[in-house]
Amino acid sequence: MTDKLHLNTSLVHSNYSAPPNFGGLQPPVQHASTVIFDNVAAMRSRSWEDKSSYTYGLHGTPTSFTLEARLAEIEQGAYCLLAPSGLAAIAMVDFALLQSGDDVLLPDNVYNPNRELGDWLTRSFGLTARYYDPLVGAGIAELIQPNTRLIWTEAPGSVTMEVPDIPAICAAAHAKGVLVAIDNTWSAGIAFPAFEHGVDIIMQALTKYQSGGSDVLMGAIITRDQALNARLQAAHMRLGFGVGMDDVYLVLRNLSSLKLRFDAHDRSARKVAAWLQTRPEISKMLHPALPGCPGHELWQRDFSGAGGLFSVMFNPRYTEAQTDRFVDTLKLFKIGFSWGGAHSLCVPYRIRQMRQNWPYEGTLVRFNIGLEDADDLIADIEQAFSVLDT
Ligand SMILES: *Cc1c(COP(=O)(O)O)cnc(C)c1O
Repeated sequence: MTDKLHLNTSLVHSNYSAPPNFGGLQPPVQHASTVIFDNVAAMRSRSWEDKSSYTYGLHGTPTSFTLEARLAEIEQGAYCLLAPSGLAAIAMVDFALLQSGDDVLLPDNVYNPNRELGDWLTRSFGLTARYYDPLVGAGIAELIQPNTRLIWTEAPGSVTMEVPDIPAICAAAHAKGVLVAIDNTWSAGIAFPAFEHGVDIIMQALTKYQSGGSDVLMGAIITRDQALNARLQAAHMRLGFGVGMDDVYLVLRNLSSLKLRFDAHDRSARKVAAWLQTRPEISKMLHPALPGCPGHELWQRDFSGAGGLFSVMFNPRYTEAQTDRFVDTLKLFKIGFSWGGAHSLCVPYRIRQMRQNWPYEGTLVRFNIGLEDADDLIADIEQAFSVLDT
């Protein structure tokens, strides 16, 4: 048929299709907005909610379905939905499960944009977002109101690192019919089996360890319950949270090395943290695997690893200007948000402006330990310490 067509038409319609069963090891990257149907009956019979077939690129292609399935496997869940960023995934949960008049509880050490979202829901959407002490444990029961629908948790909070008692929070929430969501990004979904500990919804910022390249933004929501997934899927559709398949491919490509990378970050971070702990410049280590970190015993009980992210409190005798100079003097550690990539990063936080009650004096500085040699990182920190007293 194509011989008789004009060039513009034959440029669009080709008879060629590649031989099937290509044996590449990585899944194909399938881009699509439009998905074509064999006939009108096929179009009418398909639903975007049924993921055994395809309807429109927004709801996924084989590439994104593959990533969703693999993430659900890693977290021992049954369903997964991708979102264009970790924050978009958080927003999807809130918009799926909350309506005006509802109440949501968030830990006081929650990822700050999640708090921004909570405050926005309170200001503009007729909900209430309230903040609880991340170490509240079973005491969360007293904070649950008849209109409380959702409790966010983060294990641990990714700046101040307190480890919450997830099983106790889940037991109290479920006794009152409240759902529990966890931001499980710190553990990459491999060092904390969140469903086993009782949560209903897992959120991952794939931007971090799963991508591993500091060059992709993506989030995921993973669940076990079909009805709950259906509510989330409706929000995903209504909000139009499509993801780019090239980005999906980058995450898929790096998944195979997720545990190797996480374990390498973990080993180096513990070495650097153990060294920092001996230093007079540091007054408090906020590393969940070190005794003295709030919730350390819970980390020991519930977690199998720690990854590369931790914080320190500088000795209060140093001013913020001095600790800023320390950060500026680091060479291998770059100044930047996010983590989970090969590069070590460092960020100072004005923690007393972020927390209702923060008991420790001094400046908080967060380290993301990358994949460099730990001894070089220690030497870098040591040379930067030398500017503190100048
Ligand atoms: C980075 C991060 C997010 C958000 O992910 P983005 O993809 O950057 O939106 C959420 N929670 C935690 C703990 C994070 O570190």
